[in-house]
Amino acid sequence: MLTPDDHKVSPIVDGGSGNRGYMKACTTGFMGRCPNCMRGKLFTGWATLKPICDVCQTKLSDFRADDGPAYITICIVGLIIGPLLYWVDDWMPPSPLIQLGFWLPVTLALIFVILPRAKGILVNMGWALSLKHDAHGHPADDTKD
Ligand SMILES: [Zn+2]
Repeated sequence: MLTPDDHKVSPIVDGGSGNRGYMKACTTGFMGRCPNCMRGKLFTGWATLKPICDVCQTKLSDFRADDGPAYITICIVGLIIGPLLYWVDDWMPPSPLIQLGFWLPVTLALIFVILPRAKGILVNMGWALSLKHDAHGHPADDTKD
């Protein structure tokens, strides 16, 4: 049976602040920043999640996004590129090589921009909802500590 204490926020994860707003998590995730301190970078490189925040030592690797960012990116890029491709092809059908030379870089640019932002938002929402996972991807059991 759940007690009110079962939903308490771990002071190790949030630094004891207890403030885990969803909007804060989304905006910091979109900017690629740590959800706890909002200053530390979320990624090393393009979209590789840092295991621990350099500023506040929040263990970021506990919050996994798995395939979610890829699905979100596919949906957004598909919703943008699909109708535009159809419209351009219907309006003035260019040769397939011109289409490939234009749409492929545009698609890759959108993926390059959207994927890390989607991953940041999902990881930070995991932090906001306290959805911790262990090293094997299974939900973490805080009662074992
Ligand atoms: Zn931090």
